[in-house]
Amino acid sequence: MARVIVIGGGPAGLMAADVVSAAGVSVSVFDGMPSVGRKLLLAGRGGLNLTHSEPIDALLGRYGVAREFLSKSIGAFSPEALRAFTHEIGVDTFVGTSGRVFPRSMKASPLLRAWLARLSRQGVELRTRHRFVGFDDSKRPLIAAGSGAPKVEPADAVVFALGGGSWPRLGSDGAWVSLMADLGIRVQVLEPANVGLGIDWSEYFRERFGGEALKRIAITVGKERQRGELIVTVSGLEGGAVYALTPALRQTLACGRAEIQIDLRPDLDTSDLANRLSRPRGKQSLATWLRKTIHLAPVAIALLREASGDALPRDALGLARSIKEVRLPVTGLSGIERAISSAGGISLDEVGPDMMLRRHPGLFVAGEMLDWEAPTGGYLLQGCFATGHAAGRGVLGYLAERSS
Ligand SMILES: Cc1cc2nc3c(=O)[nH]c(=O)nc-3n(C[C@H](O)[C@H](O)[C@H](O)COP(=O)(O)OP(=O)(O)OC[C@H]3O[C@@H](n4cnc5c(N)ncnc54)[C@H](O)[C@@H]3O)c2cc1C
Repeated sequence: MARVIVIGGGPAGLMAADVVSAAGVSVSVFDGMPSVGRKLLLAGRGGLNLTHSEPIDALLGRYGVAREFLSKSIGAFSPEALRAFTHEIGVDTFVGTSGRVFPRSMKASPLLRAWLARLSRQGVELRTRHRFVGFDDSKRPLIAAGSGAPKVEPADAVVFALGGGSWPRLGSDGAWVSLMADLGIRVQVLEPANVGLGIDWSEYFRERFGGEALKRIAITVGKERQRGELIVTVSGLEGGAVYALTPALRQTLACGRAEIQIDLRPDLDTSDLANRLSRPRGKQSLATWLRKTIHLAPVAIALLREASGDALPRDALGLARSIKEVRLPVTGLSGIERAISSAGGISLDEVGPDMMLRRHPGLFVAGEMLDWEAPTGGYLLQGCFATGHAAGRGVLGYLAERSS
């Protein structure tokens, strides 16, 4: 009987193992950590956003330049298919007000528990504390148990699902990059994605407003604009709006200095705002007046002052322009060790639609270790589950072809 090994027990690897074992093929999953699915469990801490319910065309658009590559696997394992899969293993989902899809419990642990039980019923063998450390001369993967010597595990096909480079202490440390490069595979450098940005706040602003939310703002980097919410941190800004702009920020930072512009009242245009600001202020302080006339929160007013060095224009139009365009220099992106995901990975032109490495028949890849990125909103897990599913189907097709 054929034997398939999957290396990496995150959502992508477990999905590949599920598809292959459901067809009656023997599967062993190897993972370097003492248990599988650690990043999935962490993702569940803040509410596990499994996928998104928006129309498929909009959803595919979230993958930017990787859209074409991912459209086949996501077309075959869509958000609906993912929801049907979790229901099948006993985890109900719901659509939140933003269109994001979550499990009812919001957590990842019930999903992972039920899934591992199903994989065990399908005969999948889990071998934790087993690390992939390279290839032998015949390009077969070498696996080391604990500190033991590396061994070749016999396999008819191998799925690599080793994750990206974020949160390395959860197991996906990107050490595979040089191992794949040794095999002659093109790999783009792993860089932080969906991560906060650094701003050199004044001591007053950092201490007084660190942890506060800037709601209903829009942020612009170059030509990209994103509406949403930001959280002021001691070292910069976090939050969905900034995460979505990390590709643009990375590009701008690579050319030198980067700057963001925050629109504190994106729902009003500059002339509407100037009209409101031309009403008489009377004896009110600037802060009270801005709060009452245009409903700016204290943190937004402080940000306006912080960015202007406390020298705000006195005329209504000038003030309106400043509110629509708070300019802040960015010192950099936060490190990959705390990023939600990473950009970079195995070049997509190395991989066929069945997720097999074009130049290495029998070796498949899936999940975040591929060179695609997406914003938060469930798109990351959707991409990982879908490519894992495609790799599983790819393995079955490969085995069938070999035996015919
Ligand atoms: C804080 C946080 C919150 C998140 N929230 C969400 C969310 O709500 N929605 C969403 O869509 N996405 C979310 N994500 C992203 C999502 O969790 C990842 O995109 C996803 O887990 C990647 O799946 P994967 O299977 O490709 O890799 P991983 O989940 O990283 O799994 C890779 C596995 O490979 C193993 N491994 C790595 N190297 C080796 C080796 N050399 N030998 C053996 N084993 C190895 C690792 O131990 C790990 O178990 C979040 C991420 C973080 C960090």
